[in-house]
Amino acid sequence: MPKKVTKKHSLDSPNPVKSEIYLATQHVQSTSNKVVKKVLNAQTIYKKKNKPSIQVDVQVPTPLPSQPCSGIIWSNNSCGYDAVFMILYSIWRSDSLRWCESFANSQSIWLNYFQNCFSPQTASLPTLEDIRDGWRCQLHAQAPENFSWGTFVSLDQLLYDVFLTELIVRVPKFLCDLHPSVNIQFNPMPLQSFLMSSGTDQFSSISEWIQCDGQLVRHRCQECGLHLKQKTEWRVVPEILSFEIALSAQMIIDPKISIVVNGNSHLYQLRGVIYFGGQHFVARLIEQDTTVWYHDGVLTGRNMIYEGLLESVDLKHCHDNKTPSALFYTRILHQS
Ligand SMILES: [Zn+2]
Repeated sequence: MPKKVTKKHSLDSPNPVKSEIYLATQHVQSTSNKVVKKVLNAQTIYKKKNKPSIQVDVQVPTPLPSQPCSGIIWSNNSCGYDAVFMILYSIWRSDSLRWCESFANSQSIWLNYFQNCFSPQTASLPTLEDIRDGWRCQLHAQAPENFSWGTFVSLDQLLYDVFLTELIVRVPKFLCDLHPSVNIQFNPMPLQSFLMSSGTDQFSSISEWIQCDGQLVRHRCQECGLHLKQKTEWRVVPEILSFEIALSAQMIIDPKISIVVNGNSHLYQLRGVIYFGGQHFVARLIEQDTTVWYHDGVLTGRNMIYEGLLESVDLKHCHDNKTPSALFYTRILHQS
């Protein structure tokens, strides 16, 4: 049964009228008085004013979903760190049991660091700013030329370090279509990173990028002289993948992508986009329920701005003409 609510309103009459309003449910139901209502969503309202029923053009404001996690406050040119941090933190917060294990098993120094910081063993919880600054300090200690304290960071360099792992994630190979059995002497090194970099290659979408195999390379077959093709084999099923996008790229940002590992397809969901423009990085966080949140360490600080559902947000553009610089996807555990 739809919920029946009686209340006064005056949208279509100078005098308040007493009316019966039916809050819709999410089912097509036949009520006892033989009224069948096709219900769109929980905010749709029908008004019954004598007979016949008249649908009133009233929309109850959609209640905002609650902010998925606290934001982080910018400090000392931290915007590049803030953007990466916020996306990883919101992913971890969405399912801390899962991501504790995944970060711990990632064999990545910095994902391990976050796992330890996000799951503190002590009673005194560090603030997000403390965790970020500890991370910056350690990055600076390891490579001051790349992570100079207090200065702007190269996002490429930061993502490279964060997603570096001891696991062999992908193995590129050069092959000749006509001579697949010829042993190629100059195959590239295995890739030990959860970061994908397009380099100079141009793709129309992330899906095309990740499925693109067989691109011609400059090397030639020793038997026939034809250009070789590059193929890439995935050796592990990553829990998280990041894509570094050239600033000029206008590719489609797919909400979902898939990769094939050992003949099995694995589906991934977009969980974050980092934008750059005006010498400043900001982030959009995408929750598992596809709600999109905007974070800017300077303007929103500990808060975030709700932007709507993923399907309604223009991901290619962000506030102040910022454009995408990096994407984050996580593996979907239960594929439907
Ligand atoms: Zn050949």
